[in-house]
Amino acid sequence: MKTVTTLSDLRAARLSLKGTVGLVPTMGYLHEGHLSLIQRAKEECKHVIVTIFVNPTQFGPNEDLSKYPRDLERDLNLIRPLGVDLVWNPSAEGMYPSGYQTWVEVEAMTRPLEGAMRPGHFKGVTTVVAKLFNATQPDRAYFGQKDAQQAAVIRKMTQDLNFPLEIVVCATVREADGLAMSSRNKYLNEDERKAATVLFRALSAAKELYEAGEMDAEKVRGKMKEVVTSEPLAQMQYVSCADYDTLEELDVVKGKALLSMAVFLGKTRLIDNFALG
Ligand code: AMP
Repeated sequence: MKTVTTLSDLRAARLSLKGTVGLVPTMGYLHEGHLSLIQRAKEECKHVIVTIFVNPTQFGPNEDLSKYPRDLERDLNLIRPLGVDLVWNPSAEGMYPSGYQTWVEVEAMTRPLEGAMRPGHFKGVTTVVAKLFNATQPDRAYFGQKDAQQAAVIRKMTQDLNFPLEIVVCATVREADGLAMSSRNKYLNEDERKAATVLFRALSAAKELYEAGEMDAEKVRGKMKEVVTSEPLAQMQYVSCADYDTLEELDVVKGKALLSMAVFLGKTRLIDNFALG
């Protein structure tokens, strides 16, 4: 497994990879969710490139960029047994040298949900992912359903900008009690960690209601709200029952829909989602 930092070293190493290449972009502090993406890439591609980069442009001014967990040695030890060919760990200055001024923006789909709560977030995501695609030239790129809007936005960008690669979205990996794995779970204290199952509980209750025949989206959102607000340590930011493709809020649940939410446990903001239909 080769680890490189500079773009020129990455390009030189990429040239030596013949056959299909799978890319797994991450911000590091890896967990089983990330590892499941790497394993899937390994199954489907001859070579696998993992990028580890805490992308500053996708964090808002009041977000957790400076305290986002980082541990490269730990990450490399987790990746090593998986047969990854190349790890790229670029620096922020390398990615965005002084005078940087080019951005990639997807429009309507980035306005609701995470886009509404985190202005500028998706502009940072699509810009960095476009740069990662250009630098690593993958045949397939692997993303998690955990960040459902991000996966949808990246798929749209890939289509719209004619990137010659396939986007593969992998199922959310969860802890035994249902909490979606996330690097941010590390911030939770013991009580918050227990309370954090409220996202899974709320999504499960809403899905059950839908499966029992409820098609009124407001009632489905109401069920999620009811469960989240019943948890004293949780502060709901939004709950959504939206069209799976456009991410617009639904009145009636028909076709494929996305249940999603953002909830604060103390200062830690967690997101989760279920697909319906
Ligand atoms: P991050 O390091 O948080 O930027 O995540 C890197 C990739 O891993 C993204 O495509 C995420 O959607 C994906 N990912 C994060 N958590 C999970 C999870 N629990 N299950 C599956 N994929 C995940």
